[in-house]
Amino acid sequence: MDNQNEILILGAGPGGCMTALFLAQKGIPCTILDKAIFPRDKICGDALSGKVVEVLKKYNPQVVSDFAQKEFEIGSWGVNFVAPNLKTLRVPFKSQNKKGQDIAPGFLSKRIHFDNFMFEEMRKFPCITIIENIAYEKVQPDKNGFKVFLSDGKVHKASLVIAADGAYSRFAKQIGNLKMEPQHYCAGIRTYYEGVKDLDPEHFIELIFLKEFLPGYLWIFPLPNGQANVGVGMRSDIIKKKKIDLKKALHRCINEHPFLKNRFKEARMIDGMKGYGLPLGSKKRKISGAHFMLVGDAASLIDPFTGEGIGNALMSGMFAAQTAHRATQNQNFSETFLEQYDQQVYKRLWPELRLSSILQTLLKFPFLFNLLVNRANANPTLKNAISCMFDDLDLRNQLKNPLFYFKLIFG
Ligand SMILES: Cc1cc2nc3c(=O)[nH]c(=O)nc-3n(C[C@H](O)[C@H](O)[C@H](O)COP(=O)(O)OP(=O)(O)OC[C@H]3O[C@@H](n4cnc5c(N)ncnc54)[C@H](O)[C@@H]3O)c2cc1C
Repeated sequence: MDNQNEILILGAGPGGCMTALFLAQKGIPCTILDKAIFPRDKICGDALSGKVVEVLKKYNPQVVSDFAQKEFEIGSWGVNFVAPNLKTLRVPFKSQNKKGQDIAPGFLSKRIHFDNFMFEEMRKFPCITIIENIAYEKVQPDKNGFKVFLSDGKVHKASLVIAADGAYSRFAKQIGNLKMEPQHYCAGIRTYYEGVKDLDPEHFIELIFLKEFLPGYLWIFPLPNGQANVGVGMRSDIIKKKKIDLKKALHRCINEHPFLKNRFKEARMIDGMKGYGLPLGSKKRKISGAHFMLVGDAASLIDPFTGEGIGNALMSGMFAAQTAHRATQNQNFSETFLEQYDQQVYKRLWPELRLSSILQTLLKFPFLFNLLVNRANANPTLKNAISCMFDDLDLRNQLKNPLFYFKLIFG
């Protein structure tokens, strides 16, 4: 016999969990399904930005305090940008949380731990039915929603499907009709090291814009116990055009690049180099339809400049839960009704996604980046303005204004 659900969430990564948790807070039952058994790993840079903290606080500030006590995370207080000329700009996050207060503006935590923390939070709610270790294999629209066929042979019917099954989402491809477009897609490789020299004492993340990877970057993100997540991300169309083997290129840079080789001389790689896709939000897409919504990577919402996707997965999960709440109240799962989800997501995220796309394009001109870093290092006011840009979108907008660079050159 078929299982009947009102709301079925596919995928229990950060996006799926956040959706289920916001629904549960309103007392709305749902079933959430994942092909993995938790704890499970996800290839990632493991950086949890201020937006992750923002959404989790909206859900429940206590959860953020609890997370900040875990030994598997460390707080991060800023970012070191290394320009193509290898000059570093050290930018603290300007945030309401000043140093000395216990909660950092951002965190670093291996995904195996963070995702499991989110997953365990769901167990507190009896109205969330969790199914692990079962994949969905096929979806079929029917007159009241969808029929979802699972790997154990069972079939679930749902009035509303929320697809949060990540970058390779079957549902987004088959039902949402989202295509992989290389100019709006990035490939990423990450590995783990221990013993990397000169990690930042305040756990600033490090984005190193080497010429060979532009407009992408190589990263070194500190982790607990002296470990570091090291990786590189690059747009798929550029990888193809330049015929780059990302794994080999990362290996070569670590062993030979003058900026890196001494820092890695005595370091030990403790995991293989693993790759995964990053669907970028540099293009607006239709992310809902009759009886469904797409969340997180399934909706292609990764920031095209920073590669950050966890915050946007949580944010879209929150909006999906709000729309699902209204849809169940009205018993209306039509395409027109669910369109409010697209509107909410893009109203909040599009200004920054668009700006990040422009910044990504600006990286075609490395001399501008070099100039910005040189001038900011010499000018504390400019450095402070850049620091504020993380929180202030209007200020960040200046980076796309030619006048800003004119003043930088001649000011
Ligand atoms: C190399 C790399 C580095 C990155 N670095 C960062 C970073 O530092 N910070 C950041 O914010 N973002 C980063 N990202 C992006 C980030 O990893 C994603 O944006 C984020 O994981 C999206 O969360 P999600 O819940 O949408 O999807 P996911 O985390 O991918 O979760 C999807 C879930 O769906 C399940 N699933 C998939 N298919 C099925 C199926 N058929 N049936 C059942 N379950 C299924 C999976 O098991 C998984 O648990 C990086 C990505 C890459 C590839």
